[in-house]
Amino acid sequence: MDIIEKALKDHSLNKTEITELLRLKDAAPLYAAADVVRKKYVGDEVHLRGLIEFSNICKQNCLYCGLRRDNKKVKRYRLSAEEIIKLAENAKNYGYKTVVLQSGEDSFYDADKMTYIIKKIKALDLALTLSLGEKTFEEYRIYREAGADRYLLRIETTDKSLYERLDPGMSFENRLRCLKDLKELGYEVGSGIMAGLPGQSEDSIAEDILFMKNLPVHMAGIGPFIAHPDTPLGEEKKNNFEIALRTMAVTRLLMPLINIPATTAMEALDKDGRLKALQSGANVVMPNVTEGEVRKLYILYPGKICTGETPSVCRGCIENKIKAAGRSIGLGKGVSKAYVYDKSEETL
Ligand code: SAH
Ligand code: SF4
Repeated sequence: MDIIEKALKDHSLNKTEITELLRLKDAAPLYAAADVVRKKYVGDEVHLRGLIEFSNICKQNCLYCGLRRDNKKVKRYRLSAEEIIKLAENAKNYGYKTVVLQSGEDSFYDADKMTYIIKKIKALDLALTLSLGEKTFEEYRIYREAGADRYLLRIETTDKSLYERLDPGMSFENRLRCLKDLKELGYEVGSGIMAGLPGQSEDSIAEDILFMKNLPVHMAGIGPFIAHPDTPLGEEKKNNFEIALRTMAVTRLLMPLINIPATTAMEALDKDGRLKALQSGANVVMPNVTEGEVRKLYILYPGKICTGETPSVCRGCIENKIKAAGRSIGLGKGVSKAYVYDKSEETL
């Protein structure tokens, strides 16, 4: 049987089959199939998340990332608790039902500070996603108890030796431990990878997809690796848009119920990147709601879009794009259907 047909029927493929899809000469049928699965299982609604990038200070040194601690060219910033809460209020006023708090790994925000921020944001009746990197079980537990709903921690790659080469000083086992802890604590868990990392093969991406399916994740953020000139990987020239889109489409075929964002990094490489992603399996967009000077300072990779826009312009722009694509804006909090399914299985 044709691999795409098999995936449409069973939502299950082996590693060899996935690799074949990632290497297709013409990926158009793959994208079309992912769009069919997206429509059938998660519908036409696109869920918006307001992204607050509250600190670009990071103690880690990931070779790919513009925020790595050895990058001395970055002007560093931290927002205060009150500034973060204000941005969340603004996000609510723009109509967002979820906010995502993202930062480098910055220990300045200890458990007490995070608890304060989380409680204040939850009092606004918003769903709250955290993306703060690796923490202890106890810290994750405290955030969860304070009210955090979701956590986003990409595995980046499941190739342990590649992971440890790219993330010096970090261990693959600890990354896995974090994801396991987050699941155990009842978070809606997002993970994901960068596609096109130096030294990453299609075979390896196939393993990544199977890893996410087996965990299972409730959300998968897949973006292209984009070389940042002020990092040790700055010379990598490959354009990874296609491989990221393919990875995302296969992920949708195999995980029909999860949330999949059309990542901002896709649009950094293709001016219609997010639209193409929405038409190839994605059902979430995460517009930036960070304001002021700091909006230009959170640069993980070059070519980041909309750093000169205001959040209100972004809100209008994305709404127009979604409607032009024949889709609608999600009216609720956009909880992952995979999470709802997981929880109902637990109570059976
Ligand atoms: N510090 C946290 C969250 C911020 S980084 C963490 O690492 O989890 C968020 C994501 O940005 C990372 O997971 C990584 O996948 C992505 N990223 C970093 N550098 C990138 C690059 N050069 N190209 C594309 N994505 C990148
Ligand atoms: Fe820090 Fe995250 Fe960038 Fe790694 S990817 S350097 S942890 S901000």
